[in-house]
Amino acid sequence: LKPHQKELFGQPIGLYILFLTEMWERFSYYGMRALLVLYMTTATIGDDRGAGLGWTSQEALALYGWYTMLVYVMSIPGGMIADKLIGQKKAVLAGAIVLCLGHAVLVLTDIWAFYTGLGLVILGVGLLKPNISTMVGGLYKEGDIRRDKGFSIFYIGINLGSLLATMIVGGVVAKWGWHAGFGLAGVVMVFGLINYLYGQKYLKEVGNFVPNVGDKNEVSYGQLYSKLFSSPKQLVIVLLLLVTSVYGWYTLEWGFGLLFIFLTSITALLMMIYKELDSQLFKDRFLVLLLSFIMVIIFWGAFEQAGGLMNLYTDTKTDRMLFGWEIPTVMFQSLNAGFIILFATFIAGIWAKRKLNGKEASSLFKMALGIIIMGFGFLFMVFAAMEFENSGTSSMIWLVLAYLFHTIGELCISPVALSFITKLAPVKYASLMMGVYFAATGLGNKVAGIVGESASEYGELAIFTGIVIFTVIIGLLFIAMLKPLKRLTHGAEESERILK
Ligand code: GLN
Repeated sequence: LKPHQKELFGQPIGLYILFLTEMWERFSYYGMRALLVLYMTTATIGDDRGAGLGWTSQEALALYGWYTMLVYVMSIPGGMIADKLIGQKKAVLAGAIVLCLGHAVLVLTDIWAFYTGLGLVILGVGLLKPNISTMVGGLYKEGDIRRDKGFSIFYIGINLGSLLATMIVGGVVAKWGWHAGFGLAGVVMVFGLINYLYGQKYLKEVGNFVPNVGDKNEVSYGQLYSKLFSSPKQLVIVLLLLVTSVYGWYTLEWGFGLLFIFLTSITALLMMIYKELDSQLFKDRFLVLLLSFIMVIIFWGAFEQAGGLMNLYTDTKTDRMLFGWEIPTVMFQSLNAGFIILFATFIAGIWAKRKLNGKEASSLFKMALGIIIMGFGFLFMVFAAMEFENSGTSSMIWLVLAYLFHTIGELCISPVALSFITKLAPVKYASLMMGVYFAATGLGNKVAGIVGESASEYGELAIFTGIVIFTVIIGLLFIAMLKPLKRLTHGAEESERILK
């Protein structure tokens, strides 16, 4: 049963409710994220922004890396809860409430409040982020041509929130201190909650829980896990993964050990779901979706240098003077969101036009192209690093061009992937698959941190060059494999028409 939605500017009206809710949520997320490392590294005696935690930058970056990864990894349980227990609509509501609580706790100055607040934000984002994205997909019937464009509009909401946050939160902190900044993130999340509650009447059935009563094939996650023991091949694979995880626990940080064990149990679950799916069509679509997530990890693993290595590069190795004014480093972080807002509809328009002319590009092609374009963006960073090696400074134009290419690449992969998931995932596992997608982006973040750290050993020039070569090759490989991969989608994108 698919809902009938009134239209506004050619899109279902519910899209705008989800757009605004996500815009407020991303404002609070990115606003808080922008403060995190700075707050942790500020001395305990403080400055005019108040006392910080007095950590070393290594300690702060380590926590930051785990935090930004966990918020996305928790999308997996967030998605599972929606699929099997309460539906996406209620999961988003629960997430929004938990986020309000989390930010409220962060207003307090005690250290327990800091950890509790972060923990609540992780849980809140895990419940909200994947499920609100799946709900966007739920606004459209299968084959509706408006879906891709809808996701691009939704993506503008995400970046509008992030742009506003990065522009406003810094000023609030400078005037009223750290905890006012955290508080602002909380107040904004309350707007998001009110907005969502108000919008319920426009969302109609979208995101409601549909219990699979009477479905003979319905199996719980527990049953799926227990079936693992009756399929020796799978069990061997899982045990091997588990041994590797435990080994990881001993050789790396304990956090990695836990992460590997978590990922092993998710891999086991996905294997069993694959086995249980009742037709080859569903199995193939499920598989191609998982394969496309490899592109997602690689993309974010390179892209997310933005907040780390490229940020530091901007700070220390770039000439930021413009007409006698030194542009603050943080302002470069707003370029990405700004470019998204400028170009999202334009790029979506190109794809839509091609589709109407019968020359449509598949999502898989767009995603591979996105990796290549983003990879080319790093070529400008190679030029920057070469200029720095020759003259001891580098022009900011390289950064602007790099961010421009990164953003165009992001627009080819990120909103496209969200939409692709809602086309291909089996309905009863739609939120789980969205969760796995976000977890893949979270792993990409972690990879980015590891690659970025290695720059201190190999130098920026080597790292940027390596990223260009690696990403372009991967993108080309996926394009070379496009035909067999597309076959696995069983025409999920070939029947798209204007439907209402
Ligand atoms: N910037 C986007 C967002 O916040 C993408 C993040 C991601 O997929 N990890 O939604």
